[in-house]
Amino acid sequence: MANSGQKVVLITGCSSGIGLRIAVTLAKDEKKRYHVIATMRDLKKKDKLVEAAGDVYGKTMMLLPLDVCSDESVKQCINNVKDRHIDILINNAGVGLLGPVESISIEEMKRVFETNFFGVVRMIKEVMPDMKKRRSGHIVVMSSVMGLQGVVFNDVYTASKFAMEGFCESMAVQLMKFNIRLSMIEPGPVHTEFETKMMEDVAKMEYPGADADTVRYFKDVYLPSSIDIFEAMGQTPEDIAKCTKKVIE
Ligand code: NDP
Repeated sequence: MANSGQKVVLITGCSSGIGLRIAVTLAKDEKKRYHVIATMRDLKKKDKLVEAAGDVYGKTMMLLPLDVCSDESVKQCINNVKDRHIDILINNAGVGLLGPVESISIEEMKRVFETNFFGVVRMIKEVMPDMKKRRSGHIVVMSSVMGLQGVVFNDVYTASKFAMEGFCESMAVQLMKFNIRLSMIEPGPVHTEFETKMMEDVAKMEYPGADADTVRYFKDVYLPSSIDIFEAMGQTPEDIAKCTKKVIE
């Protein structure tokens, strides 16, 4: 349970990557300013987080199940937080999708929007009433540079982040009146499982519906150059966690 004076921070998608590192960084804050509620959709994946947290696990960090694609899971998770009191919500959970749009089914596209857009909307809808009552709170959203700039073969992912940026920009005006802050973080490439998962999906792709020139351009030009960009510019999850900590301080 949070000590008085500690801020309650709930983070989505803490099984790996950026979410895991934000949870650990805040739970290990030298001044113990945060009580971290790390969440993940599959608690069987908790070992990496628990190991990284070390002795702060169970002290400044607790764990709850949360699937941002499920209304019921979102409600249950927030109901499990004492008095539903969350000072800072960090919407981090997200999925990627790469490839020629002709080869991607509408179902796959909907899964990306369900997570990256509606997942954030669900969370904000659930925490907003209590934040408004208390007239305080901070909502942080992990967007991407692709929430600001379209990138070839990332059409659907980019669209999901643009949608979220638009939603949040509009919400920010309403929330400001209740003294609730809304911050967007827009990282470039970050070395996490995100990249690995997308490359695994790409390796399985059979390109139905895509013409030969597009497939060639994707495989022979786009993929090698995007891997080079990742290698050259990729930040670490620690970099993004430090930035997030600065944003909420
Ligand atoms: P990871 O794949 O390492 O982490 C994504 C996290 O989201 C995982 O914990 C995953 O859980 C979780 N997640 C996915 N779907 C759901 C769901 N329905 N409910 C709850 N959790 C879910 O990637 P990153 O750490 O890199 O990504 C974190 C965020 O950063 C994303 O929003 C991404 O768009 C953004 N970002 C990433 C960049 C990058 O280059 N890596 C660049 C810019 C932004 P599970 O293990 O169960 O799949």
